[in-house]
Amino acid sequence: MFMHCPFCQNPDTKVVDTRVGDDGYAIRRRRECPKCGKRFTTVETAQLLVIKRSGNSEPFSRDKVISGVRKACQGRPIDEDALKQLGRKVEEDLRSRGLAQVDSDEVGRAILAPLRDLDKVAYMRFASVYQNFENLNDFENAIKDLREHCDSEAKSSAESHDAQSVKSAK
Ligand SMILES: [Zn+2]
Repeated sequence: MFMHCPFCQNPDTKVVDTRVGDDGYAIRRRRECPKCGKRFTTVETAQLLVIKRSGNSEPFSRDKVISGVRKACQGRPIDEDALKQLGRKVEEDLRSRGLAQVDSDEVGRAILAPLRDLDKVAYMRFASVYQNFENLNDFENAIKDLREHCDSEAKSSAESHDAQSVKSAK
């Protein structure tokens, strides 16, 4: 981040120490100005902006992710804890990319994989809305992809487990 020296306004300052706060989001940086030699501390919050299709942006909200997914989970055996876990995974996934902003489409995509692992029916509901399924072909293709994914998952877990655990696999 571009930071002026608060003492002499020199635009070029050097980071000498970086610490992340307990909540993971507040970043304290100790900086030094090479011109006047003074030191100061800045606190940055690693804000993540979501750019909506309209072009407007808003701060990333885990609650918004969860409420979007909750609609797709109606009537499914998914508890609040699982939804919270999913929200955390999505946020970690997006933040791990180290970007200051992401498209709302990226957020949707980041939801798909953990939701697929959580519940296949909820996943299909969410994908049909998010990916604008328009006809039966779209559903058929998505189901085909899902089947292939499940098969390759079952296959790879069968390969890495012994005969006993294969028997208990779905
Ligand atoms: Zn200075």
